[in-house]
Amino acid sequence: MSYLTVENQGLNVPDQVTIPVIPGDGVGREIWQASQAVIDAAVAKAYQNKRQILWQKILAGEEAFKQTGTYLPEATLTAIKQAKVALKGPLTTPIGEGFRSLNVTLRQTLDLFACVRPVRYFTGVPSPLKHPEKTDMVIFRENTEDVYAGIEFLAGEKQTQDLIAILKEQFQVQKIRFPQTSSIGIKPVSKEGSQRLIGSAIDYALANQRQSVTLVHKGNIMKFTEGHFKKWGYELAETQYADVCFTMQTFEKIAKEQGKAQAQAALEQAQKAGKLIIKDVIADNFLQQILLYPEKYDVIATCNLNGDYISDALAAQVGGIGIAPGANINYHTGYAIFEATHGTAPDIAGQGKANPCSLLLSAAMLLDYLGWQEASQLIMQAIEKAIATKQVTADFAQAMTEATLLSTQEFGELLVEII
Ligand code: NAD
Repeated sequence: MSYLTVENQGLNVPDQVTIPVIPGDGVGREIWQASQAVIDAAVAKAYQNKRQILWQKILAGEEAFKQTGTYLPEATLTAIKQAKVALKGPLTTPIGEGFRSLNVTLRQTLDLFACVRPVRYFTGVPSPLKHPEKTDMVIFRENTEDVYAGIEFLAGEKQTQDLIAILKEQFQVQKIRFPQTSSIGIKPVSKEGSQRLIGSAIDYALANQRQSVTLVHKGNIMKFTEGHFKKWGYELAETQYADVCFTMQTFEKIAKEQGKAQAQAALEQAQKAGKLIIKDVIADNFLQQILLYPEKYDVIATCNLNGDYISDALAAQVGGIGIAPGANINYHTGYAIFEATHGTAPDIAGQGKANPCSLLLSAAMLLDYLGWQEASQLIMQAIEKAIATKQVTADFAQAMTEATLLSTQEFGELLVEII
């Protein structure tokens, strides 16, 4: 095996690099089959056969259960830990097997704190918007905290009654409207968790010449959790990134002390100097802003639950809910899993109807992460060309006029040809 290593916070990637892959369940097998040749062709062309990915197939999900009796074998986790990165198709969530979800288990075990979802438009993709091309954002969703910590207490149970009694007696909480029949959920949001996510979003924005990072929160209601997500974000930008960022908190401060014209002048000066602008918006407002003025937003950093809603809303705006890519990354350890964001699509599995673009674009993100941008560009350009010439899989063909319908495998072969 020829794994990459992490050195001085950077990746050291050998020319022949071993990458584990979990093809996944349902449509996973067919999209992987179509995608592998495309990724290999892009790497071979970009580097004249001097670089190569050595795919190491590892097991998870139904296939793992059939072969080993467990859905997530220890050997799979070991392989990902050794390789640091992996590519993954969709997995069936086993019901009643002690797993909340295999995906959540993988994210928690490897502490993959940033869920990264780029959202951009591919010309020709059917979209509900008049100008879907104005949407070009990268979402950084916090992946380990918030209500996803799963701290919940069921209405009526003794533990819940005890907790409600403690809240009333020790913390003078009087506002539980129906204490006898309330379930209780606890939402942890920490300074460390918020700042490592927001710091990664800022680093990404700086490295990719993005204009702004927007902190999306519901801090007007959840003041100490989401309100502090915003506060800690601004604090981080103003202390550790002071020379490369300008925050709208600073803008407000100048406006209050010296007037709005001064604040506007400081903002314009920062923009001229190429500084990254850090701003914030309340989550409900953000959901209307992305429909009305998507061009105002660039990199987004947000808490876990907001990120869940926002990812799907934005993906739908560009018509890409079936082709949206994603990655779960720990930027400190280097561990990262790149994954198709859709599920196993049991309704179309085995019929050659699945669109492999979500897995392919996730593979393109993996190549970017390795520093192999030339190969990732070839994949992006091939997908752009195929869609622009209306040679697509069934999901797009049915919403386009005069499209050429291709099977999953044929679509993959077309991309190899274009590359
Ligand atoms: P789904 O994403 O599998 O399917 C929703 C709809 O989208 C279906 O109509 C499907 O045909 C279509 N679709 C999905 N992927 C497509 C593709 N590549 N090309 C064309 N059409 C596509 O969601 P679901 O039906 O709610 O879930 C099915 C299973 O997948 C469940 O077991 C669920 O737990 C699992 N799941 C896994 C992941 C993951 O591994 N990341 C994500 C979501 C759901």
